[in-house]
Amino acid sequence: DTYLNPNYSFDNFIEGDCNRLARSAGFAVAQRPGLTSFNPLMMYGGVGLGKTHLVQAIGNYIMNHFDNKLVLYVSSEKFTNQFINSIKNNTLQDFTDFYMKVDVLAIDDVQFLSGKEKTQDTFFHIFNHLHQLGKQIIMTSDRPPRELQGLQDRLLSRFKWGLTADLQTPDFETRIAIIQKKIQSEGISIDYDVIEYIAHSVNSNVRELEGVIVSLMAQASLTRREIDVELAKNTLRNIVMNEDKEVTIDTIQEVIADFFQVTIADLKSKSRKKEVVYPRQLAMFLAKEYTDLPLKSIGYHFGGRDHSTVIHSIQSINLLMGETPDVEETLQKLRSYFK
Ligand code: ADP
Ligand code: MG
Repeated sequence: DTYLNPNYSFDNFIEGDCNRLARSAGFAVAQRPGLTSFNPLMMYGGVGLGKTHLVQAIGNYIMNHFDNKLVLYVSSEKFTNQFINSIKNNTLQDFTDFYMKVDVLAIDDVQFLSGKEKTQDTFFHIFNHLHQLGKQIIMTSDRPPRELQGLQDRLLSRFKWGLTADLQTPDFETRIAIIQKKIQSEGISIDYDVIEYIAHSVNSNVRELEGVIVSLMAQASLTRREIDVELAKNTLRNIVMNEDKEVTIDTIQEVIADFFQVTIADLKSKSRKKEVVYPRQLAMFLAKEYTDLPLKSIGYHFGGRDHSTVIHSIQSINLLMGETPDVEETLQKLRSYFK
Protein backbone atom coordinates (compact mmCIF):
# COMPACT_ATOMS: atom_id res chain seq x y z
CA ASP A 1 0.00 0.00 0.00
CA THR A 2 2.71 2.46 -0.93
CA TYR A 3 1.04 2.79 -4.28
CA LEU A 4 -1.87 4.67 -5.62
CA ASN A 5 -4.88 2.68 -6.64
CA PRO A 6 -6.10 4.13 -9.95
CA ASN A 7 -9.68 3.13 -9.16
CA TYR A 8 -10.03 5.98 -6.70
CA SER A 9 -10.82 9.20 -8.51
CA PHE A 10 -12.76 12.41 -8.06
CA ASP A 11 -15.09 11.22 -10.82
CA ASN A 12 -16.32 8.30 -8.78
CA PHE A 13 -16.38 10.15 -5.49
CA ILE A 14 -19.91 11.29 -4.74
CA GLU A 15 -20.17 14.74 -3.30
CA GLY A 16 -22.69 15.55 -0.58
CA ASP A 17 -23.12 17.81 2.41
CA CYS A 18 -21.25 15.21 4.42
CA ASN A 19 -17.99 15.60 2.50
CA ARG A 20 -18.22 18.85 0.54
CA LEU A 21 -15.48 20.78 2.31
CA ALA A 22 -13.01 17.90 2.27
CA ARG A 23 -13.73 17.16 -1.37
CA SER A 24 -13.35 20.72 -2.59
CA ALA A 25 -10.23 21.34 -0.52
CA GLY A 26 -8.87 18.07 -1.91
CA PHE A 27 -9.67 19.10 -5.44
CA ALA A 28 -8.03 22.50 -4.96
CA VAL A 29 -4.91 20.79 -3.66
CA ALA A 30 -4.95 18.36 -6.59
CA GLN A 31 -5.02 21.23 -9.06
CA ARG A 32 -2.33 23.29 -7.38
CA PRO A 33 -0.29 21.01 -5.14
CA GLY A 34 1.83 22.94 -2.67
CA LEU A 35 0.48 26.26 -3.86
CA THR A 36 -2.72 26.61 -1.87
CA SER A 37 -2.91 27.52 1.79
CA PHE A 38 -4.24 24.01 2.40
CA ASN A 39 -0.84 22.68 3.34
CA PRO A 40 -0.94 20.38 5.08
CA LEU A 41 -4.42 19.21 4.19
CA MET A 42 -5.76 17.11 7.01
CA MET A 43 -8.95 15.13 6.46
CA TYR A 44 -10.55 13.19 9.26
CA GLY A 45 -13.58 11.03 9.80
CA GLY A 46 -14.76 7.62 10.93
CA VAL A 47 -14.15 4.33 9.22
CA GLY A 48 -15.50 3.85 5.70
CA LEU A 49 -16.35 7.49 5.07
CA GLY A 50 -14.00 7.99 2.12
CA LYS A 51 -10.69 9.23 3.55
CA THR A 52 -8.53 6.80 1.63
CA HIS A 53 -10.63 7.28 -1.49
CA LEU A 54 -10.20 11.06 -1.38
CA VAL A 55 -6.53 11.08 -0.58
CA GLN A 56 -5.87 8.62 -3.39
CA ALA A 57 -8.05 10.62 -5.76
CA ILE A 58 -5.85 13.64 -5.07
CA GLY A 59 -2.73 11.59 -5.75
CA ASN A 60 -4.12 10.12 -8.95
CA TYR A 61 -5.24 13.50 -10.19
CA ILE A 62 -1.78 14.95 -9.68
CA MET A 63 -0.14 11.94 -11.35
CA ASN A 64 -2.41 12.36 -14.36
CA HIS A 65 -2.12 16.11 -14.71
CA PHE A 66 1.53 16.83 -13.91
CA ASP A 67 4.45 15.20 -15.69
CA ASN A 68 7.10 15.94 -13.19
CA LYS A 69 5.58 15.50 -9.77
CA LEU A 70 6.57 12.62 -7.57
CA VAL A 71 3.53 11.52 -5.60
CA LEU A 72 3.82 9.12 -2.73
CA TYR A 73 0.90 7.54 -0.92
CA VAL A 74 1.65 5.57 2.21
CA SER A 75 -0.34 4.27 5.14
CA SER A 76 1.01 5.30 8.52
CA GLU A 77 1.39 1.65 9.37
CA LYS A 78 3.60 1.06 6.35
CA PHE A 79 5.55 4.21 7.12
CA THR A 80 6.18 2.96 10.64
CA ASN A 81 7.25 -0.47 9.47
CA GLN A 82 9.61 0.99 6.90
CA PHE A 83 11.06 3.22 9.56
CA ILE A 84 11.62 0.34 11.97
CA ASN A 85 13.26 -1.73 9.24
CA SER A 86 15.52 1.12 8.28
CA ILE A 87 16.74 1.30 11.86
CA LYS A 88 17.32 -2.43 11.91
CA ASN A 89 19.17 -2.38 8.61
CA ASN A 90 21.06 0.79 9.28
CA THR A 91 19.43 2.55 6.34
CA LEU A 92 17.68 5.40 8.08
CA GLN A 93 19.38 7.91 5.80
CA ASP A 94 18.00 6.18 2.70
CA PHE A 95 14.60 6.10 4.28
CA THR A 96 14.46 9.83 5.00
CA ASP A 97 16.08 10.71 1.66
CA PHE A 98 13.41 8.73 -0.10
CA TYR A 99 10.60 10.65 1.60
CA MET A 100 12.31 14.00 1.39
CA LYS A 101 12.48 13.96 -2.38
CA VAL A 102 8.77 13.61 -3.08
CA ASP A 103 6.60 16.48 -4.30
CA VAL A 104 3.43 15.20 -2.73
CA LEU A 105 3.27 13.07 0.40
CA ALA A 106 -0.06 11.49 1.26
CA ILE A 107 0.02 9.73 4.59
CA ASP A 108 -3.10 7.81 5.59
CA ASP A 109 -4.43 7.16 9.11
CA VAL A 110 -1.92 9.16 11.15
CA GLN A 111 -3.68 8.13 14.36
CA PHE A 112 -1.58 5.01 13.93
CA LEU A 113 1.56 7.01 14.76
CA SER A 114 0.19 7.58 18.22
CA GLY A 115 2.69 6.69 20.94
CA LYS A 116 5.42 5.90 18.39
CA GLU A 117 7.87 8.58 19.45
CA LYS A 118 10.81 7.69 17.21
CA THR A 119 8.62 7.37 14.14
CA GLN A 120 7.05 10.73 14.96
CA ASP A 121 10.48 12.34 15.31
CA THR A 122 11.42 11.21 11.84
CA PHE A 123 8.05 12.16 10.40
CA PHE A 124 8.49 15.58 11.98
CA HIS A 125 11.77 16.11 10.13
CA ILE A 126 10.36 14.89 6.84
CA PHE A 127 7.32 17.09 7.31
CA ASN A 128 9.42 20.19 8.00
CA HIS A 129 11.70 19.53 5.08
CA LEU A 130 8.87 19.07 2.61
CA HIS A 131 6.81 21.92 3.96
CA GLN A 132 9.74 24.34 3.74
CA LEU A 133 10.22 23.42 0.10
CA GLY A 134 6.54 24.06 -0.57
CA LYS A 135 5.79 20.40 -1.18
CA GLN A 136 2.25 19.25 -0.60
CA ILE A 137 1.42 17.15 2.44
CA ILE A 138 -1.92 15.41 2.84
CA MET A 139 -2.91 13.46 5.90
CA THR A 140 -5.92 11.55 7.10
CA SER A 141 -6.95 10.54 10.56
CA ASP A 142 -9.91 8.80 12.14
CA ARG A 143 -10.43 11.67 14.58
CA PRO A 144 -9.86 15.43 14.77
CA PRO A 145 -6.29 16.51 15.56
CA ARG A 146 -7.23 17.74 19.05
CA GLU A 147 -8.29 14.18 19.92
CA LEU A 148 -5.12 12.58 18.63
CA GLN A 149 -3.73 11.45 21.94
CA GLY A 150 -0.18 10.20 21.85
CA LEU A 151 0.88 12.53 19.09
CA GLN A 152 3.54 15.10 19.86
CA ASP A 153 2.34 18.66 20.30
CA ARG A 154 4.85 19.94 17.81
CA LEU A 155 3.32 17.69 15.16
CA LEU A 156 -0.23 18.56 16.10
CA SER A 157 0.54 22.25 15.92
CA ARG A 158 1.91 21.78 12.41
CA PHE A 159 -1.20 19.91 11.35
CA LYS A 160 -3.07 23.12 12.08
CA TRP A 161 -0.95 25.18 9.71
CA GLY A 162 -3.11 24.18 6.80
CA LEU A 163 -6.72 23.11 6.57
CA THR A 164 -8.56 20.50 8.58
CA ALA A 165 -11.73 19.14 7.00
CA ASP A 166 -14.00 16.40 8.24
CA LEU A 167 -15.90 13.65 6.50
CA GLN A 168 -19.25 12.87 8.03
CA THR A 169 -21.69 10.02 7.80
CA PRO A 170 -23.48 10.37 4.46
CA ASP A 171 -26.96 11.84 4.59
CA PHE A 172 -29.88 10.14 2.85
CA GLU A 173 -29.53 11.91 -0.51
CA THR A 174 -25.83 11.16 -0.67
CA ARG A 175 -26.50 7.52 0.18
CA ILE A 176 -28.97 7.31 -2.70
CA ALA A 177 -26.41 8.81 -5.06
CA ILE A 178 -23.68 6.47 -3.86
CA ILE A 179 -25.88 3.40 -4.36
CA GLN A 180 -26.88 4.59 -7.82
CA LYS A 181 -23.29 5.18 -8.82
CA LYS A 182 -22.24 1.81 -7.48
CA ILE A 183 -24.91 -0.20 -9.30
CA GLN A 184 -24.29 1.80 -12.45
CA SER A 185 -20.62 0.89 -12.29
CA GLU A 186 -21.59 -2.76 -11.93
CA GLY A 187 -23.64 -2.42 -15.10
CA ILE A 188 -26.93 -3.42 -13.52
CA SER A 189 -30.14 -1.56 -12.85
CA ILE A 190 -32.27 -1.75 -9.76
CA ASP A 191 -35.70 -0.27 -9.11
CA TYR A 192 -35.74 2.95 -7.18
CA ASP A 193 -37.75 1.48 -4.31
CA VAL A 194 -34.93 -0.98 -3.64
CA ILE A 195 -32.37 1.81 -3.69
CA GLU A 196 -34.49 3.81 -1.31
CA TYR A 197 -34.95 0.84 0.97
CA ILE A 198 -31.20 0.28 1.20
CA ALA A 199 -30.51 3.98 1.74
CA HIS A 200 -33.00 3.99 4.60
CA SER A 201 -31.69 0.83 6.22
CA VAL A 202 -27.96 1.27 5.92
CA ASN A 203 -26.85 4.57 7.35
CA SER A 204 -23.53 3.95 8.98
CA ASN A 205 -20.86 4.35 6.32
CA VAL A 206 -20.08 3.99 2.65
CA ARG A 207 -18.06 0.81 2.99
CA GLU A 208 -21.03 -0.93 4.55
CA LEU A 209 -23.33 0.45 1.88
CA GLU A 210 -21.08 -1.00 -0.80
CA GLY A 211 -20.92 -4.31 1.05
CA VAL A 212 -24.70 -4.56 1.05
CA ILE A 213 -24.89 -3.97 -2.69
CA VAL A 214 -22.24 -6.58 -3.39
CA SER A 215 -24.06 -9.13 -1.21
CA LEU A 216 -27.34 -8.25 -2.83
CA MET A 217 -25.95 -8.90 -6.30
CA ALA A 218 -24.37 -12.15 -5.15
CA GLN A 219 -27.65 -13.21 -3.59
CA ALA A 220 -29.58 -12.38 -6.74
CA SER A 221 -27.30 -14.33 -9.00
CA LEU A 222 -27.06 -17.35 -6.67
CA THR A 223 -30.81 -17.62 -6.28
CA ARG A 224 -31.52 -16.44 -9.84
CA ARG A 225 -33.93 -13.91 -8.43
CA GLU A 226 -34.84 -10.41 -9.40
CA ILE A 227 -33.41 -7.74 -7.18
CA ASP A 228 -36.46 -6.43 -5.35
CA VAL A 229 -37.20 -5.06 -1.90
CA GLU A 230 -37.93 -8.54 -0.60
CA LEU A 231 -34.50 -9.78 -1.59
CA ALA A 232 -32.90 -6.63 -0.19
CA LYS A 233 -34.62 -7.33 3.14
CA ASN A 234 -33.31 -10.88 3.18
CA THR A 235 -29.83 -9.79 2.36
CA LEU A 236 -29.82 -7.14 5.03
CA ARG A 237 -31.18 -9.51 7.61
CA ASN A 238 -28.35 -11.94 6.87
CA ILE A 239 -25.71 -9.27 7.05
CA VAL A 240 -26.97 -7.70 10.23
CA MET A 241 -27.28 -11.04 11.97
CA ASN A 242 -23.78 -12.09 10.99
CA GLU A 243 -22.14 -9.03 12.30
CA ASP A 244 -21.64 -7.62 15.71
CA LYS A 245 -22.17 -4.04 14.86
CA GLU A 246 -20.19 -1.46 16.70
CA VAL A 247 -22.45 1.09 18.32
CA THR A 248 -21.31 4.60 17.53
CA ILE A 249 -22.34 7.87 19.03
CA ASP A 250 -24.13 8.68 15.76
CA THR A 251 -26.21 5.51 16.01
CA ILE A 252 -27.10 6.33 19.58
CA GLN A 253 -28.19 9.83 18.67
CA GLU A 254 -30.26 8.52 15.76
CA VAL A 255 -32.00 5.90 17.89
CA ILE A 256 -32.72 8.38 20.67
CA ALA A 257 -33.98 11.00 18.23
CA ASP A 258 -36.30 8.44 16.62
CA PHE A 259 -37.49 7.09 19.92
CA PHE A 260 -38.33 10.43 21.52
CA GLN A 261 -39.34 12.19 18.32
CA VAL A 262 -36.78 14.92 18.68
CA THR A 263 -34.14 15.89 16.15
CA ILE A 264 -30.43 15.25 16.39
CA ALA A 265 -30.02 19.02 16.24
CA ASP A 266 -32.19 19.21 19.39
CA LEU A 267 -29.85 16.81 21.13
CA LYS A 268 -26.90 18.99 20.24
CA SER A 269 -28.71 22.25 20.97
CA LYS A 270 -28.62 24.38 24.07
CA SER A 271 -32.33 23.77 24.67
CA ARG A 272 -33.28 23.25 28.32
CA LYS A 273 -36.77 21.98 27.49
CA LYS A 274 -37.68 18.87 29.40
CA GLU A 275 -38.62 17.04 26.17
CA VAL A 276 -35.06 17.51 25.00
CA VAL A 277 -33.02 17.39 28.20
CA TYR A 278 -34.07 13.87 29.20
CA PRO A 279 -33.38 12.28 25.79
CA ARG A 280 -30.06 14.13 25.64
CA GLN A 281 -29.05 12.84 29.05
CA LEU A 282 -30.04 9.30 28.11
CA ALA A 283 -28.04 9.59 24.91
CA MET A 284 -24.93 10.64 26.83
CA PHE A 285 -25.52 7.85 29.31
CA LEU A 286 -25.66 5.29 26.50
CA ALA A 287 -22.70 6.86 24.74
CA LYS A 288 -20.67 6.24 27.86
CA GLU A 289 -21.95 2.69 28.06
CA TYR A 290 -21.42 1.69 24.42
CA THR A 291 -18.44 3.62 23.19
CA ASP A 292 -15.00 4.03 24.65
CA LEU A 293 -14.92 7.70 23.83
CA PRO A 294 -13.56 9.94 26.56
CA LEU A 295 -16.20 12.08 28.29
CA LYS A 296 -14.69 15.12 26.67
CA SER A 297 -15.36 13.84 23.21
CA ILE A 298 -18.86 12.64 24.13
CA GLY A 299 -19.53 16.22 25.18
CA TYR A 300 -18.09 17.42 21.92
CA HIS A 301 -20.65 15.35 20.02
CA PHE A 302 -23.44 16.98 21.96
CA GLY A 303 -22.97 20.51 20.75
CA GLY A 304 -19.54 21.02 22.25
CA ARG A 305 -20.49 20.52 25.88
CA ASP A 306 -17.69 19.95 28.32
CA HIS A 307 -16.98 16.75 30.19
CA SER A 308 -18.55 17.94 33.45
CA THR A 309 -21.89 18.25 31.66
CA VAL A 310 -21.55 14.66 30.55
CA ILE A 311 -20.79 13.56 34.10
CA HIS A 312 -23.78 15.51 35.34
CA SER A 313 -26.06 13.89 32.75
CA ILE A 314 -24.94 10.40 33.67
CA GLN A 315 -25.48 11.18 37.35
CA SER A 316 -28.96 12.53 36.63
CA ILE A 317 -29.94 9.32 34.86
CA ASN A 318 -28.54 7.24 37.70
CA LEU A 319 -30.54 9.32 40.17
CA LEU A 320 -33.72 9.00 38.13
CA MET A 321 -33.22 5.26 37.93
CA GLY A 322 -33.35 5.11 41.69
CA GLU A 323 -36.61 7.04 41.68
CA THR A 324 -38.64 5.28 39.01
CA PRO A 325 -38.47 1.96 37.18
CA ASP A 326 -39.53 3.69 33.93
CA VAL A 327 -36.01 4.79 33.23
CA GLU A 328 -34.59 1.29 33.38
CA GLU A 329 -37.41 0.08 31.13
CA THR A 330 -36.72 2.80 28.61
CA LEU A 331 -33.03 1.97 28.68
CA GLN A 332 -33.81 -1.70 28.04
CA LYS A 333 -35.91 -0.78 25.02
CA LEU A 334 -33.20 1.48 23.70
CA ARG A 335 -30.53 -1.16 24.22
CA SER A 336 -32.58 -3.62 22.20
CA TYR A 337 -31.97 -1.43 19.14
CA PHE A 338 -28.26 -1.92 19.50
CA LYS A 339 -28.32 -5.72 19.51
P1 ADP B 1 -11.93 5.31 4.95
O1 ADP B 1 -10.54 5.40 4.40
O2 ADP B 1 -12.45 6.62 5.43
O3 ADP B 1 -12.11 4.23 5.96
P2 ADP B 1 -12.56 4.51 2.25
O4 ADP B 1 -11.99 5.67 1.50
O5 ADP B 1 -11.77 3.26 2.25
O6 ADP B 1 -12.90 4.93 3.75
O7 ADP B 1 -14.03 4.26 1.69
C1 ADP B 1 -14.71 3.03 1.85
C2 ADP B 1 -15.38 2.66 0.56
O8 ADP B 1 -16.42 3.58 0.29
C3 ADP B 1 -14.45 2.73 -0.63
O9 ADP B 1 -14.77 1.69 -1.51
C4 ADP B 1 -14.77 4.06 -1.26
O10 ADP B 1 -14.55 4.04 -2.66
C5 ADP B 1 -16.23 4.24 -0.95
N1 ADP B 1 -16.61 5.64 -0.77
C6 ADP B 1 -16.47 6.39 0.35
N2 ADP B 1 -16.96 7.63 0.18
C7 ADP B 1 -17.44 7.67 -1.08
C8 ADP B 1 -18.09 8.68 -1.86
N3 ADP B 1 -18.36 9.90 -1.36
N4 ADP B 1 -18.46 8.36 -3.12
C9 ADP B 1 -18.21 7.14 -3.61
N5 ADP B 1 -17.61 6.14 -2.94
C10 ADP B 1 -17.23 6.40 -1.69
MG1 MG C 1 -8.82 4.36 4.94
